Amino acid sequence: MIELISAERCTLCDLCVDICPTDVFELRENAPPAIARQEDCQTCYMCEIHCPADAMYVAPRREPAAEESVHRDESRLAAAGILGSFRARLGWGKGRRPPRTFDEALALARTGPGAGPGPEGMSAPDAAHERGEALPQGALPQGALPHGDEGTADR
Ligand code: SF4
Ligand code: SF4
Repeated sequence: MIELISAERCTLCDLCVDICPTDVFELRENAPPAIARQEDCQTCYMCEIHCPADAMYVAPRREPAAEESVHRDESRLAAAGILGSFRARLGWGKGRRPPRTFDEALALARTGPGAGPGPEGMSAPDAAHERGEALPQGALPQGALPHGDEGTADR
């Protein structure tokens, strides 16, 4: 589910407003689009993938994160390299390349956001995290989570 737009990174191109299939965003004058209808988000990642500024974060979860969740903490997400990371892993953007080998494509399909729901409604990355498995490059690393936030329903 869409959780944040970085005002620092956003270039006001408004591409995300056009790309969202469920009209989650609202245009604002001289400001990043507003997440006006978060409840309509389908967690399709299209906005994050298309954002040319790596300014968006779609959390691998189906419910809105709590205000204090790491999923809404821009500085921690940025420091962990999460903002725009799925776009980067797909190879979108200048100087990037998409997966070229079967193994690279398989790794992305298995672990990337949008890989499909895991057990108990969790996304694949969340499920891997719950199992204590190493997360792929670009996924939310355990070290990025605040103490006590690991493995809870509010991730
Ligand atoms: S696509 Fe990215 S840069 Fe463009 S308006 Fe949306 S958040 Fe801002
Ligand atoms: S993840 Fe998909 S449905 Fe959700 S805000 Fe982005 S484009 Fe819209």
